[in-house]
Amino acid sequence: MKSAVLAAIGDELLSGARLEKNASFMAKHFHNHGWNVKRIEVISDEESEILSLLSRWVGNTDLLIISGGLGPTHDDKTRYAIAKYLDCELSPNDDMYNMVLERVKDYPERYAYTEKCRNPQAYIPVKCSAVFNPVGFALGMKFQQDGTTVIALPGVPLEYQAMTRQELPEIFAPSHTWASVIILGLPEMTIAEKIPEVINNPSLHISILPASPQVELIIRGSPELVDEAEKLTRSRFDNVLPRGCLSLSEAVIHEARTHGVKIACAESCTGGLVGEQITAIAGSSDVFNGSCVTYSNEAKQNILGVKSETLASFGAVSEECAREMAEGALRIYDADYAVSTTGIAGPDGGSESKPVGTVWFGLASKNGESHSFMKKLPGNRGEVRTRAVRFALCELWKMIYTSKIY
Ligand code: ATP
Ligand code: MG
Repeated sequence: MKSAVLAAIGDELLSGARLEKNASFMAKHFHNHGWNVKRIEVISDEESEILSLLSRWVGNTDLLIISGGLGPTHDDKTRYAIAKYLDCELSPNDDMYNMVLERVKDYPERYAYTEKCRNPQAYIPVKCSAVFNPVGFALGMKFQQDGTTVIALPGVPLEYQAMTRQELPEIFAPSHTWASVIILGLPEMTIAEKIPEVINNPSLHISILPASPQVELIIRGSPELVDEAEKLTRSRFDNVLPRGCLSLSEAVIHEARTHGVKIACAESCTGGLVGEQITAIAGSSDVFNGSCVTYSNEAKQNILGVKSETLASFGAVSEECAREMAEGALRIYDADYAVSTTGIAGPDGGSESKPVGTVWFGLASKNGESHSFMKKLPGNRGEVRTRAVRFALCELWKMIYTSKIY
């Protein structure tokens, strides 16, 4: 099994000002291709830290990928640390930098600035080869020593991702050594008990990732065993997202497209997050007509046609209001299926009968079926909203999956 170490450089990552994205992005791809990711390290912009990283891992892993510290500012020290480690000079790779510069030839100000940054962005330790940057400007660099390949890339996630794809295409190729099975509505222990042959197979590695109301099972192993275990797992459960759907929103789009139906939402406490999740999937316009954020009672009445008596008698966070919201969305967007959310995300606004975390969901379909259900969701405001989005998508998927409209 090949091994990789992933390092991210940046004081802003250690202070929490930025969330580390590069190592975690790569780790998943390595893992999917059966590599052993030995360590993920986040280190400061200090040259001594970079030197220590190199001395610890060169000779002790097949691959070391370093992200960050290749820009033009005082805190960008990676190229100097690598030159020091290899005990060599830096020299500009002008040919490659000119190719990068070509990209901004029609923008005089940007061109002048990028030219000004030639030193240091084109400079590479002479014992390294340069790595082309297909989206940004700073060149990357790589070298091999004592059985370790070291690749240093800019930290900007877009550049890092493009350059790792370019340098390691095999890590991004489709892999049959893993499968994801997403099961809805059952606790993780119940799921594990239903597939003992999979869970207890020593040749498989199983990760169980609960995010109520879904549990994702990631099965890893040889392609044959993974295929067999995936089929067996799928056969044991009713509410399983279709093969290839890695999220609830993908499954909703897939199901709606398969059945040729249109969907819509009406959101209150989720403030548009359900629509955001759906529209994050490319091609969602085939099936998604729209979502309205109706936060005030007036908006619920005027836009969705929720009855004033409903709001007066039961309140906005109620079975009746959730159902009328879904029916309203179905009508105004001329959809086949609609889902709605209305709840108390907190931290204020709760009462004894409707504590913080109370969320009502409405569902409506063109054949006249409509209903609503309530969940008491734990957590802070953000967690209540995130969970509410998952429940809304989950029930919308189930409704399309089991319905008779198509
Ligand atoms: P640049 O040419 O932009 O200076 P660089 O290689 O020097 O590239 P940094 O200066 O370390 O990269 O970071 C540039 C930007 O990318 C910063 O906004 C930084 O917070 C962000 N960034 C760097 N590394 C990471 C990382 N591992 N995860 C997420 N964001 C990162
Ligand atoms: Mg920088």
